[in-house]
Amino acid sequence: MNKSLLKKYARLIVRVGANVQRGNRVVIYADTEQSELAVEVARDAYRCGAEHVAVEWGNDALTRLHYTHRMTDVMAEVARWEKEKMKDMSERLPCRIYIDSDDPDLLRGISQEKIRAVQSARVKAFKPYRDAMENKHPWTIAAAPSKAWAKKIFPDLTPAKAVDALWNAILKSVHVSPDADPVKEWAALNEGFRAKCEWLNKNNFAAMEYTSSNGTNLLVGLIQGVQWLGGGESTMDGHFFNPNLPTEEIFTSPKAGAASGKLVSTKPLSYNGQLIENFSITFEQGKAVSWEAEKGKAMLDQLLSMDEGARMLGELALVSKQSPINRSGILFYNTLFDENASCHVALGFGFTNLYPGFENMTRQELTERGINDSLIHVDFMIGCDDLTVTGIRGDGSRVKVFENGDWAANVTNGDN
Ligand code: ZN
Repeated sequence: MNKSLLKKYARLIVRVGANVQRGNRVVIYADTEQSELAVEVARDAYRCGAEHVAVEWGNDALTRLHYTHRMTDVMAEVARWEKEKMKDMSERLPCRIYIDSDDPDLLRGISQEKIRAVQSARVKAFKPYRDAMENKHPWTIAAAPSKAWAKKIFPDLTPAKAVDALWNAILKSVHVSPDADPVKEWAALNEGFRAKCEWLNKNNFAAMEYTSSNGTNLLVGLIQGVQWLGGGESTMDGHFFNPNLPTEEIFTSPKAGAASGKLVSTKPLSYNGQLIENFSITFEQGKAVSWEAEKGKAMLDQLLSMDEGARMLGELALVSKQSPINRSGILFYNTLFDENASCHVALGFGFTNLYPGFENMTRQELTERGINDSLIHVDFMIGCDDLTVTGIRGDGSRVKVFENGDWAANVTNGDN
């Protein structure tokens, strides 16, 4: 990996992703295989005036060893010091930077029941701290190739060539190239997101209708006043940051309990290292009531039975089929990329910060108003070449939002 491109990428992660400011604390999460990038990110964070940078190292091989050798209850254990650490974080509110390079097959062969028990115990233990930090600290996820991940995507290449190919794909998707300034490119991208969000928010649709020839036909209610968001966002005290590098989506949280009809998946869903393929889910009064899958049905059963909220929608996201990630034709086996290739929805929790006045409300109050709550949030893709999305206003009038898998002309022009 070319050193000057790596530095450019680190700069993008620090200045656009987390947007580190003088006096901030920073925590970087990275696998030991990504030490070179992690050090460059730390270096640039200090350059931006960070007063303290910490790195939490992970290691895929060790994670697998722990899962293999620890009993489920030992693996699920959350130590007192771990909670203290999370509590400390929820008070100090550092910028959190995740460098994702996970091997999609890391936990292949480990019992699904074990993985589920461990994950749900840990998510539950940390949820109060996560809720306390939500919308109060800047964070960002960016990716870097591990050998295992790269080989999964490019099985016919040598490990070194596969890593190079994945670096290329990642850098292209985040607009890092030798001759452009990605920080400037992202300012322009964010302006595009802002204009579309403004159009959607102005229309204040009461519902959205999704139809395509593959059988998707869903009517989903929206909560009045709930915002559409895309690109960068701000913490409650106004720290602007870009949570996802890359990003192509504009999204909202629909009204839990107000979806009816059928959604047909258009790309495989990679969940806990397993693929769920060619599946569809039928909703009644907002809840998944029946589902089918050509492959991975047991996994889908498991996902939908995580908890009450796992059967309801927490996100609607609009992504043009012109997205560079879609055009690359690569299946990344990683949500950060694959969700930006296509229109998608998520099962599970919705985003509380989209509700106006959320900062003075409890999670319970927001749930009562329709922002879905769950331990999970899992995206799946429903975008395709002939997807139409129609916005329906409170008075019943209809406005085209997406046509043939892309933004309708009236949206890009800013008309109604
Ligand atoms: Zn999304």
